Amino acid sequence: MSEHLYLPELAARPAPRYTSYPTALEFSPAVGAADQAAALRGLEAGTSASLYVHVPYCQEICWYCGCNTGATGRPERLAAYVAALAREMRTVGALYQGRISRVHFGGGSPNALSPAQLASVAETIRSCFLVDEDAEWAAELDPRLLSDDHAAALAEAGITRVSLGAQTFNLGIQARINRIQPFRQVAEGVSALRRHGIERINLDLMYGLPTQELGDIVETIAKARQLEPDRVAMFGYAHLPSMLPRQRMIDASTLPDAKARFWQSALAHDLLLEAGFAAVGFDHFARPQDSLAIAARTGRLRRNFQGFTDDQADVVIGLGASSISQFPGLLVQNEKHVGGWRMRALNDTLSGVRGCRRSADDRLRAEIIERILCHGAVDLEEVAMRRGASTAQLSGALPIIDGLAGAGVLERSEWRIRITSIGRPYARLAAAAFDRRLRAQARRTSKAV
Ligand code: SF4
Repeated sequence: MSEHLYLPELAARPAPRYTSYPTALEFSPAVGAADQAAALRGLEAGTSASLYVHVPYCQEICWYCGCNTGATGRPERLAAYVAALAREMRTVGALYQGRISRVHFGGGSPNALSPAQLASVAETIRSCFLVDEDAEWAAELDPRLLSDDHAAALAEAGITRVSLGAQTFNLGIQARINRIQPFRQVAEGVSALRRHGIERINLDLMYGLPTQELGDIVETIAKARQLEPDRVAMFGYAHLPSMLPRQRMIDASTLPDAKARFWQSALAHDLLLEAGFAAVGFDHFARPQDSLAIAARTGRLRRNFQGFTDDQADVVIGLGASSISQFPGLLVQNEKHVGGWRMRALNDTLSGVRGCRRSADDRLRAEIIERILCHGAVDLEEVAMRRGASTAQLSGALPIIDGLAGAGVLERSEWRIRITSIGRPYARLAAAAFDRRLRAQARRTSKAV
């Protein structure tokens, strides 16, 4: 067992997950499609970008879900969505002259689309963009919708890595979060993928679910191991019903308290390390030979809207309703409502409706936050000097950093900060010390652990 440090006051303190900085809570309508077009046009021909394709549909909605998605309903909706995606791709492809090094399908559930629809989206991507021969194609999948035909179509489309939402294998807890999927169903999905040559598999698991106890973590991880995933992500359930009305279906009185959450996360960490996984960032685990673990070992781990990644691209082009595009100086989100997004796509216009410009100070802070979360260490002076900034800009964070040092979460020597091995669960709090915009957001942000 590793040593763990439970600090009640810090564990309960809110901190963003920082899949971007500034975070999406800072987005405003001051940024829109014109900025998106200028950013796409302004990228040099040699740029290498990642493509993110959002599919905002699921067969049924899980009550814990924080994603922008809705129930599929009538099948015509999916056909209409695919048609609008094709138009959007043509519009974006005409503006972007660079290459695509990664393609990621997220959601929602990309496999809410039929195998033929998935094949058609992949074909349109290849016809609208210059996709590298060795680009990695990945997809998030719902195991409950994963037919053999889907697995075949995904493989044919070039998908080599998938992420399956498993969350927990305890049927009682599954009922409490409205996501019933027996272990056998997930195992059959994994077998279908492997039969068709898709070998690289990530499982998403969760702690902090209603009535969840340590025994469930043990049982779920034991079953997850039987599926031999390359990666496991262990997310803490964030109960924010005022922002996510579907979460009101979850009985808050059955949720584990902060202390129980902490020990569930700690136990999962120990069990996964015992099983031979390497810890990556604060909530990912990967086989030592997996590219994510290698990236973590070699200082190439990054963080973007998909979480921890070995993707080195600084530009992410988001397609589909609610997708976020990331450019060095701009974050911009497409219209969230499918109807509005479709109308824009079918009018051959971009659908960015909100976002945030990133100043030099934002980019400095973004790099510091990313380094703390990905590498557990940062030399503030080195980053500031390289970016032509001054450490004086960062000194406001030092009282918080020193407070965390006093609690054993990190060590500071002059401008160097290193998270301790027992401080890893609190890394988001160290990152948040550099977030100039945080105070106003505190009530809309999940707990650090
Ligand atoms: S399947 Fe995934 S995206 Fe869809 S509702 Fe459930 S958790 Fe959310």
